Order: sequence, then structure tokens, then C-alpha cells
Amino acid sequence: MLVDSHCHLDFPDFAEDLDGIVSRARAAGIGRMVTISTRVRKLDQLLAITERYEDVYCSVGTHPHNADEEDGIASDELVALTEHPKVVALGEAGLDYFYDNGSPEAQARGFRAHIAAARTTGLPLVIHTREADEDCARILEEEAAKGAFRAVLHCYTGGRELALKAVSLGLYIGFTGILTFKKSETLRALAAELPADRILVETDSPYLAPGKFRGKRNEPAFVVEVAKVLAETRGVSFDEISRQTSENFFRLFSKVKA
Ligand SMILES: [Zn+2]
Ligand SMILES: [Zn+2]
Repeated sequence: MLVDSHCHLDFPDFAEDLDGIVSRARAAGIGRMVTISTRVRKLDQLLAITERYEDVYCSVGTHPHNADEEDGIASDELVALTEHPKVVALGEAGLDYFYDNGSPEAQARGFRAHIAAARTTGLPLVIHTREADEDCARILEEEAAKGAFRAVLHCYTGGRELALKAVSLGLYIGFTGILTFKKSETLRALAAELPADRILVETDSPYLAPGKFRGKRNEPAFVVEVAKVLAETRGVSFDEISRQTSENFFRLFSKVKA
């Protein structure tokens, strides 16, 4: 079994054929999917999807792109929203300095509020970090000093230093289709180096279709391609990477039924 630990099934790209998307994922051996929240105020749309499919779970959070729009949402409110049985994680929240969406201050405030909620609930935080290695590492360190929390740095594209720092703080690293791109040698070297019990696979679909599907709409079934390359990169079998990443997923996303 494989798990798609990060997709966006509520995005309009999937509206026409969601049943087909989910059945194709099941047929490809994807046992669980987590559809990741980008706006707390749109959680109802995600919950409606999780109610339709037993094997689909969701998170709750504010994507850094929407940090200004949802500035000031308190960690208490996030905590309360995680009481729903299908809400299994916080986020995605974090820092994105690549796009000019969301002021750095609002992003940092949101990031810290989500960390606080993760700490309180014990649920994992899905962290989005892009072109923000230094600030991300600093916030993670400061927040870890206040008390432990669990998290994954999803769709990892940052440097080696931040990844190793995150691992040393007990966090996980998630890999998408970017791992399969020709130019991603540095990322593959990092993926080969990380401890086996800290790696996850994901699609971040509808974005970032892997390998042979590049440029097309991505979907959860394609997480198979990410796992294939991760297995190759680490010199283990596809079955072994499936077993290991799924085990890691259920350890981290411990609210999801195994
Ligand atoms: Zn993201
Ligand atoms: Zn995402």
C-alpha cells in the first residue's frame, strides 16, 4: 500500500471527475489520501469530500499564500476544528518567499499559531516552506524550544541544512513529483541520505505531475511514480519504500485508521 499524504481534492481541477480520481487511486494501491486545507474558512468543502470517501482524510489550516486573508485566526480555533474525526492534521502553513502572496509577517504569525495548535493537539503540522530556509529553521528552533510538536516539511525543495535541522527536531520530509525531474539531482541526493523512518511521499496534486506525466494534471494515483524514484534513489525495492513510507505515515498521522 502507498499513501498520498498531500493532495488538494477540493481544487476545481478535480470537480468534474472526483469519483474517477479516487477510484483510480484505489486501483493503483493508494490506501489513504489526505486532502490538505489551504483556507480554514473553506474547511466545510474538505469535510464534504471526506464524508464521501472513507479513505480520504483532511487537515485544517491557512496556506502562506492566504496568510493575510486569514490573518489572526487563533490557535484555539484551529484546535477546536480538529475535533472532527476526519481532520487528522494542521496546515498547510508556513513560509513562501517565492511567490509575492502573503506578507512575511502574516505568514510567520500563521505559522506559529499552527505550530501551537499542533503542540496542543498532538496532531502533525503540514509545513509549506519555499525559498525561506533560514526563517523556517529559526522559527522551528524557537518553537521547538517552547515544547515538542510533530510536523512534515511537505513538497521539500529546500536545502540540506534545513532538512537535517528538521529531522534533528523529530520532523519528517515529504517528497513530490519534483523528485522525479531530471534537474533534481541535489534533492535526490538528500532523499537518499535521510533516515528511512522520516520520509513520506505525496503528490501535491493537481500540481507537480511526476516523470512521464509532467505538464499534465497530477492526481493521487501518480504517487506511485514518486515512490518508484524514491526507491531507486535509496537503492531499495518499490515494496520496501511502500512499506516504509506507509509505516511512517501512520506513525505521524496517528489519527488516521491503520
Ligand atoms: Zn505546499
Ligand atoms: Zn499543497
